[in-house]
Amino acid sequence: MISVRDGQAQILARIGAPLAPELVPLTRAPARVLTDDFAAPFDVPPADNSAVDGYAVGSADIPAGGTRDLVVIGDLAAGFVFEGKLGAGQTLRIMTGAPMPAGADTVYPQEVVQRQGDRVTAGPIDKGANVRLAGEDVEMGAVVIEAGTVLRPQEIGLIASLGAWQVAVRRRPRVALLSTGDEVAEPGSPRRPGQIYDANRFTLRGSIEQCGGEVIDLGIVPDVRDALRAGLEDAARAADVVVTSGGVSVGVYDLVKDVLSELGAIDFWQVAMQPGRPFAVGRIGGALFFGLPGNPVASLLSFMLFVRPALYKLAGRRRLFPQTWQARALEPMRKKTGRTEYKRGILAFRDGDWEVCTTGPQGSGILSSMVAGNCFVVLDEARGDVAAGERVTVEPFEAL
Ligand code: AMP
Ligand code: MG
Repeated sequence: MISVRDGQAQILARIGAPLAPELVPLTRAPARVLTDDFAAPFDVPPADNSAVDGYAVGSADIPAGGTRDLVVIGDLAAGFVFEGKLGAGQTLRIMTGAPMPAGADTVYPQEVVQRQGDRVTAGPIDKGANVRLAGEDVEMGAVVIEAGTVLRPQEIGLIASLGAWQVAVRRRPRVALLSTGDEVAEPGSPRRPGQIYDANRFTLRGSIEQCGGEVIDLGIVPDVRDALRAGLEDAARAADVVVTSGGVSVGVYDLVKDVLSELGAIDFWQVAMQPGRPFAVGRIGGALFFGLPGNPVASLLSFMLFVRPALYKLAGRRRLFPQTWQARALEPMRKKTGRTEYKRGILAFRDGDWEVCTTGPQGSGILSSMVAGNCFVVLDEARGDVAAGERVTVEPFEAL
């Protein structure tokens, strides 16, 4: 038996450098992982500029109490620069975003001045009011996005505002995916008596894509030695990572283990967890290999615990594990010590506290529990039965 934590650490230790960088245009960069720290090549805003539509003045011309006539010497729209310099008693009409003219350090909003012809009068105002200073958003040279960040629309916008049209991101991990088992049938095709439709290739495909991976779908491989061997060899040639489901438990018909043992250096683990216990990890050729259990909840959970952090590390992400927090259990939960259990839960915020109940039957084949739920209730190895009202750790299925 190996603990979940030790399994995760061993898997991450097998992964060295992340995948190579590639340059992509910003339009293709959403959800990709930034390769290097992104530093601002210039100040943002690049120059002092007006925060309002109004009148730019030098602070020496700001009347202390009374009003003063100022002569309007021009009009400055955003996107243009005033070439001259304000002298004493002069003002410049200025639009929001236009750079401050030489000789001016303060802007009167247009609502607070009286204008007559080319003259304005105005009251007192603080020196520097309504001016956005160069570099107040971002200073030149400052790291604005750290390496390993997954690019959201706001990061892409920030990069664009700094003048770049392309960015270096990690290549997406290519993940070959196949289901094993004579009993597994392709959805949309007729199924023989005794067969079940493939669920795992669909939950896993979506999960791989959500992690930023590219799926190579190798279909269902029957429990036939040569077919299995060929399928796995093809997978390892095409991909950075090979993921299979089924065939890693101890059943007599599980050819998968035999074939895997011939193909590469594969460890077969019994993980101290529920659902899911059998798990295989290793290498086939140049590809990392993960053999997930066949039961649909077990395969998806094993993916989240072991494959997702590996894909994240390959993709150069900074954060490898999701955030967890504490919630109040609304019902008692059975728990065996000596293994980590992952109940499917429904988490809600009510009356100032996070509360969680389970989705009902918790069998490792009950995929509808993952549909009804929105989180795992994670009960660690040392814990025994949980009484209603106790605090438990919850881990939302989707990162919040
Ligand atoms: P195995 O690990 O191959 O012994 O499979 C364990 C259980 O998971 C069996 O009931 C299988 O029928 C089921 N199973 C295996 N592969 C799949 C799959 N791709 N989709 C749904 N159930 C599966
Ligand atoms: Mg099987």
